[in-house]
Amino acid sequence: MKRCLIIGGGLSGLTAASILSYKNINVTLIESSPKLGGRTYSFTDKDTGTEIDNGQHIMMGCYKETLKLLNLIGAQNNFDYQKNLYLKFIDRNKNHFQLNASSSFYPFNLLFAVKNYDALDLNDKLTFILFLLKLPFVSKSSLRKISVKQWLDKENQSSNTINSFWEILCVGALNTNSAKASALVFYEILMQIFFKGNFATTIILPKYGLNESIINPASSFIAKNGGEIIFSETVKEVVIKNKKIVEIKSDENNYNEFDYVISAIPLHALGKIIHKENLEIDIELNYSTILNIHIWLDKNNLQEKFYGLLNSPLHWIFVKEKHINIVISDADYLAEKSKEEIYEFVMDELIQYTSIVRDDIKQYKIIKEKRATFVPAITTLGKRPNSKTSIRNLFLAGDWTNTGLPSTIESAVKSGRIAAEQVLSEN
Ligand SMILES: Cc1cc2nc3c(=O)[nH]c(=O)nc-3n(C[C@H](O)[C@H](O)[C@H](O)COP(=O)(O)OP(=O)(O)OC[C@H]3O[C@@H](n4cnc5c(N)ncnc54)[C@H](O)[C@@H]3O)c2cc1C
Repeated sequence: MKRCLIIGGGLSGLTAASILSYKNINVTLIESSPKLGGRTYSFTDKDTGTEIDNGQHIMMGCYKETLKLLNLIGAQNNFDYQKNLYLKFIDRNKNHFQLNASSSFYPFNLLFAVKNYDALDLNDKLTFILFLLKLPFVSKSSLRKISVKQWLDKENQSSNTINSFWEILCVGALNTNSAKASALVFYEILMQIFFKGNFATTIILPKYGLNESIINPASSFIAKNGGEIIFSETVKEVVIKNKKIVEIKSDENNYNEFDYVISAIPLHALGKIIHKENLEIDIELNYSTILNIHIWLDKNNLQEKFYGLLNSPLHWIFVKEKHINIVISDADYLAEKSKEEIYEFVMDELIQYTSIVRDDIKQYKIIKEKRATFVPAITTLGKRPNSKTSIRNLFLAGDWTNTGLPSTIESAVKSGRIAAEQVLSEN
């Protein structure tokens, strides 16, 4: 039986380990922290006893790789699936707007949804629909050197259309504002969302905490297939001889009985264990913060599962009865602020958009993820490395590798699947 050592127990490493252990490869996964999931995990909040996520994770019907993984590990029923695209937005005057596509007549249902989205005036709706219709004919090379904002301006999208839709989608999907994000990366996700069938446009949310929904099922699946997971051990050094890894040294053990190694750790962590020149990787990544503010309320009148906020620094509110989770993406500007300052900032906005008042708040908790995602800037295009490396027995995985996708669950899972297939193709 061939042996594969996987470094990193985030979703990319867990995907590779799930596939390889299922295919009878002897898998050992080494994770530096005492928990699995990397940037996707949940924990029990000690003040309220609630299981909360490090950050609300949204998936979409176009997450084909993730849906396949969920099927493999038997976790597909741990998620709520929309039948058709349904988004509810609130503006600063507490007006509600909806983007609601019927479940039939795709793709015309999407055009009707835009027609009925009253946050836009008639002219905005027409230029929006025209933009969607033109998308399949866009020349990709024309997008290589421009930002999302430059592209939208070129396509006559008004500032209202940008603020009431495109910016929300851009910041939500790329965790980067439209001035910084690459138009080409944005184009790729628009094609995935709007041109791959009705289901691709829908939102998928975990029913339970992330651990119960996806991380624990993956780890049980790996264990059931004979894989071993080692916790709280950090890989410190990779010994390379003749373009082959011969030894992996962690802070606890040395490993030399393996045929293949998959690195499933972020670029900044990889740089600490292998010199980038050994890998011939020439990419620098900047990272972007996501803030999640969990608020427990005495009473709550918000009826929907989630809302987008128009023209607000608060992007989304997710509602779980009397517990709400507010998401602020692209939040570097808040990363160094104190928890009291952030709370005041959030409350000032929240009371304008909802009927929630300060007296309704029982508890709150702020989670800052400073390196939540990498920034898909123009400078990263064409530089993300493939899974196969110049080191013969090393394959790369991680959301930052060359998947063509932004820093998402889908990219992590796709990279793990590709790395696993590379290993399998060597056998
Ligand atoms: C707050 C937040 C919200 C997000 N929202 C969404 C969303 O709505 N939708 C979406 O699709 N994506 C979202 N993402 C992005 C998504 O979580 C990531 O893209 C994905 O989890 C990355 O997985 P990964 O396996 O590539 O990397 P990681 O999850 O970073 O996993 C890497 C693992 O390697 C371990 N490790 C690092 N160095 C070593 C070492 N030397 N030895 C051993 N182990 C090591 C780490 O501890 C970690 O467990 C969000 C992320 C955050 C933080």
